[in-house]
Amino acid sequence: LRAFAGGRLSVPEGGAEVLPGLLARALPPGTVRTGVRVTSVSTTSVTTAEHGVLRCRAVLLATDARAAAELLPGLRVPGFHPVTVVHHTTDDPGPALSTGTSLLLDADRGGPVAHTAVISNVDPSRAPAGRTLISSTVLGTPPEDVDAAVRTHLSRLYGTPTNRWETLAVHHTPDAVPATRPAYDPHRPVRLLAGLYVCGDHRDTPTLQGALHSATRATTAILTDLGATSSMHLADPPATMPRAA
Ligand SMILES: Cc1cc2nc3c(=O)[nH]c(=O)nc-3n(C[C@H](O)[C@H](O)[C@H](O)COP(=O)(O)OP(=O)(O)OC[C@H]3O[C@@H](n4cnc5c(N)ncnc54)[C@H](O)[C@@H]3O)c2cc1C
Repeated sequence: LRAFAGGRLSVPEGGAEVLPGLLARALPPGTVRTGVRVTSVSTTSVTTAEHGVLRCRAVLLATDARAAAELLPGLRVPGFHPVTVVHHTTDDPGPALSTGTSLLLDADRGGPVAHTAVISNVDPSRAPAGRTLISSTVLGTPPEDVDAAVRTHLSRLYGTPTNRWETLAVHHTPDAVPATRPAYDPHRPVRLLAGLYVCGDHRDTPTLQGALHSATRATTAILTDLGATSSMHLADPPATMPRAA
């Protein structure tokens, strides 16, 4: 929340999956395969559920903490914090929902919502046609009737009745972010041995930024171990680069 309050915010236009899609487009065709479940890894091979064994010179395991520990027994599985996101829509936004692209934080903690935004103002493509989309986040264990509690809180935050809003979706993720209890090391090792590396939010701070930072550390270690002096792919970046909404 401190970072939200002090920094600049963005979401990928079109949804979170757009960003990896754009990154993959910068690589030679066929480099990235999706929908492939890995069942075991070693320094020289990756075994998949339905696509056989892939031989390689190094493996970087970039899964969530629990899957990483299943594939590499001995890796620590942290505790996790749950996150619940509630999406409401309305066809009658009224003047109260004119918060623009701002993220509302409730400094008084007067209800379960940690932060909320009229997300259709930020990225209209995320909302059902002609409707306003309000997305709200509850950190930690949610109250029993989370939708009702969130509506009551949003009514106070936005200063407008919410009883006629439609609930579009409630997404609860029990293992949303790794817990960072003291003494937490935000620079956990990413090089397990020559040829075997691991990255993800569980090796760094439990954020997208932390996941990316650990990936930079891991890929640097791989390039060093393989004796490469720079990036090993030669593809040009895509003509249209991602645009933050
Ligand atoms: C609701 C919610 C809201 C969040 N909001 C924010 C936010 O506002 N800001 C922020 O910084 N962070 C946020 N986070 C946290 C952020 O999403 C994570 O920290 C980040 O996604 C971690 O990235 P990662 O690459 O480590 O792991 P993941 O994003 O979990 O990616 C791991 C990938 O590994 C794949 N995988 C797992 N097992 C296998 C297998 N056996 N074979 C093949 N593939 C496998 C999974 O399918 C997945 O695609 C949020 C998380 C949630 C759930």
